[in-house]
Amino acid sequence: MESFTNRKKVVSDKPMTFIEKLYLPAIFSGMMITMKHILTRKKTIKYPEEIRVFAPVYRGQHVLKRDEEGRENCTACGLCAVACPAEAITMVADERKRGEENLYREEKYASTYEINMLRCIFCGLCEEACPKEAIFLTDRIVPTEFERANFIYGKDKLVESMEDRIDISLRQNTGKRGAI
Ligand code: SF4
Ligand code: SF4
Repeated sequence: MESFTNRKKVVSDKPMTFIEKLYLPAIFSGMMITMKHILTRKKTIKYPEEIRVFAPVYRGQHVLKRDEEGRENCTACGLCAVACPAEAITMVADERKRGEENLYREEKYASTYEINMLRCIFCGLCEEACPKEAIFLTDRIVPTEFERANFIYGKDKLVESMEDRIDISLRQNTGKRGAI
């Protein structure tokens, strides 16, 4: 049969010689490989004490942004959910009430907004689809969890706090966003 790669290896089934049966040359050759790796630079790091520098195109945990006055940008238009190929986004739209002008930028807002991080493939299409500059993917890692339910991120984890704003300029894949 025709081979499509040159990785094919013919396996020998000839009887082992006396030297081969001693296994010493094989053990020595294995030890040499181990020594070679001991002397070369480590490819692993001690995460989380050490953190690798991410590629500029890395897309991590989302943030729902607020404007300069602290109001949520998201108007629950649903375009991000429609654009999401993984159907990871769900939301409930609500109407802004009198006195809530300092909380939400427009008349409509998302009273519930959830992203299932187990479904998300971090493609960034939600960010591209958003007409309000409300959702961005950041350079942050989604932390590990033991329960699947904990991977459903609600507004408590997604909306940035004014005390600890997320600098979206750290993720530079489009080059079209400004800092904070
Ligand atoms: S990054 Fe992609 S998969 Fe994840 S929520 Fe946004 S659109 Fe969906
Ligand atoms: S994040 Fe953007 S696209 Fe998604 S619902 Fe809010 S305003 Fe619409």
